[in-house]
Amino acid sequence: MELTDIKGVGPKMLLNLHELNIYTVDDLLTYYPYRYDLFEPSNLTDDYDHERIAINVLVETTATTAFIRKNFNKLQFRVNHNGRIMYAVIFNRAFLKPHIIIGKTITLIGKYDSKRNTFICDDIKLNPLTKKEIIPIYHIKKGIKNNDLRKIMESALVDSAKISNYLPDEFIMKYDFISKKQALRMIHMPHNYEEVKKAKLYLKYEELFLFLFKIAYMKDENENMFKEEKYFLQDQVDAFITSLPFSLTDSQSEALSLILNDIKSNKKMNRLVLGDVGSGKTIISFISMYANFLSGYQSVLMAPTEVLARQHFVSAINYFTDYHLTVDILVGSMTKKEKEKVKERLASGEIDILIGTHAILEENVLFYRLGLVITDEQHRFGVKQREILKSKGEVPDALYMSATPIPRTYALTLYGDLDVSFVRHKPRGRKEIITKIKKYSELKDVLMHVLEEIKNSHQVYVVASMIDDNEELDLKSVETLKEKFNLAYQGKIPIEILHGKLKQKEKDAIMQRFKNNETKILISTTVIEVGVDVKNATVMVIFDADHFGLATIHQLRGRVGRNNLDSYCYLISDKEIERLKVLEESNDGFYIAEKDLELRGEGDLFGTMQSGVKTFKIADLKTDLKIMMQAKQDSEEYLKSGAYKNNMNYTKIIRDLERLN
Ligand code: ADP
Ligand code: MG
Repeated sequence: MELTDIKGVGPKMLLNLHELNIYTVDDLLTYYPYRYDLFEPSNLTDDYDHERIAINVLVETTATTAFIRKNFNKLQFRVNHNGRIMYAVIFNRAFLKPHIIIGKTITLIGKYDSKRNTFICDDIKLNPLTKKEIIPIYHIKKGIKNNDLRKIMESALVDSAKISNYLPDEFIMKYDFISKKQALRMIHMPHNYEEVKKAKLYLKYEELFLFLFKIAYMKDENENMFKEEKYFLQDQVDAFITSLPFSLTDSQSEALSLILNDIKSNKKMNRLVLGDVGSGKTIISFISMYANFLSGYQSVLMAPTEVLARQHFVSAINYFTDYHLTVDILVGSMTKKEKEKVKERLASGEIDILIGTHAILEENVLFYRLGLVITDEQHRFGVKQREILKSKGEVPDALYMSATPIPRTYALTLYGDLDVSFVRHKPRGRKEIITKIKKYSELKDVLMHVLEEIKNSHQVYVVASMIDDNEELDLKSVETLKEKFNLAYQGKIPIEILHGKLKQKEKDAIMQRFKNNETKILISTTVIEVGVDVKNATVMVIFDADHFGLATIHQLRGRVGRNNLDSYCYLISDKEIERLKVLEESNDGFYIAEKDLELRGEGDLFGTMQSGVKTFKIADLKTDLKIMMQAKQDSEEYLKSGAYKNNMNYTKIIRDLERLN
């Protein structure tokens, strides 16, 4: 069944669904509500102050309208709720005025403010509610309404779309689960909250079961991947390390010695280095490539963006000048001729280390003797590289580097198919980033400080939260911020904006101008290139900071404080001050990630900013640890039993995994 087979999905709606990343019926049915509105006409008591509720009231006066400013008006009238007289207020619904009729009973939905004796409505139902109603609320975008989605879900479920089920019968029986179909009906069209709970349990367990099954499968596969042992002289590696302008931290040395052992071993390396921003992962990768070179193999280092690739290329050349090895770069923006030349030299074995973006592997690249593939700042699932390498018959060692600090227990489960090294400590003497929370009313101070830094020829990052249609949130989009800054500085400071909708080429050009210190202020959404090293940037201002997870903010602020200058991070927010204080107090990414998890649930463990995709659609690692542990045990048991080989639903999964490994 295709999306267009669903009643209510025409060509226009199809495009709207694509905007939500919904391309298949499966995508649709796993597009879960992020919350539910439970409407039951309540009897307002003082306990409900500022809680979102629905109440039935009798209209006592007609409504007055106040036009406050363009596109902003206020409707107000008096009501009687079980004898309690109060005012009802609703914004931007002037058109409701003629429907507010004295003596009529209506339902107000919103929050009561006892101080003002006013009920602030976000919705008014002219046909009053009489019984409980539970309404799923989805994340939506322009062009598609919550109700549209509800209707489409309903049609899909009623038309009994084919639903893929990944839970083996034995586990459905073991836990006395409802069916997948029931679970989907209950999550999208619940009659009561009990049903939502039941559905969530099923869907979370299934999601984790499948994820952990794949991990267990890959782990098994990885353990059986053999390669030729590599030989190099430790002394030569040590000499290189000694020549560095700094000595390695203990964390770096530990991670490195494990990597060097992996390189020597006859088993393919599959290692993830997890280290806080600025913990010095790059040099670890360089030393590993040097050892690989000494063993007579080529290495490739892949970065997520051209800017980052260029940055690594420049450092590699610096580090390796005296070591008789050839480093080169291959990125999308090079001319065809340039690319051809690099490819030739790569195939002939002239190039020892190739640096580039992930795209390089797709460029029809042939290696002479590839021994090591390093991926910087990239998460594994959804990476095509393994598939491509496999198709070329190469079994290179694989090293992944990530700056997303994940608490140990989770990392070991979520990356259970890889060996994980933690680079916990940062180089000594590194200055902490001075972080301060500022209210919007204190913005002026921040703007002054920014100007001061720019006068000292430093640079500034400004981060706005994502452009969002959610009207409840007062989000400052990048465009508005640029206008504001231009106004504040009378247009005298070069400012540029960077956001995800730009083409990679444009992004790279903008980043390059910032690196060259031509642009003084870079305003961006959270797409600021991970790992970018602009040493001259000393201030980061994050607007609507309460909107972000702590781990994300921590990663963001890691863009400053990259030299011996004092660096600052301003968190602009009027809300959630307590949570944000964790950042004022600590500069330790792992500690912050743990706090984040504690305070916010899954939060952004995976650094949504990096991947743009949440790993789980419904499971939440913080609250679902128990389900996760059970699913881990069960899925491993299922793998061992071999029963998956006879499960049709698993055939495709295995095929996909086989291609990867
Ligand atoms: P990340 O782990 O975020 O990728 P980088 O590898 O970019 O961090 O390192 C950040 C900075 O720290 C670089 O300028 C690097 O030269 C420097 N650095 C790395 N290791 C050390 C060390 N042991 N002592 C001092 N500085 C170091
Ligand atoms: Mg890095």
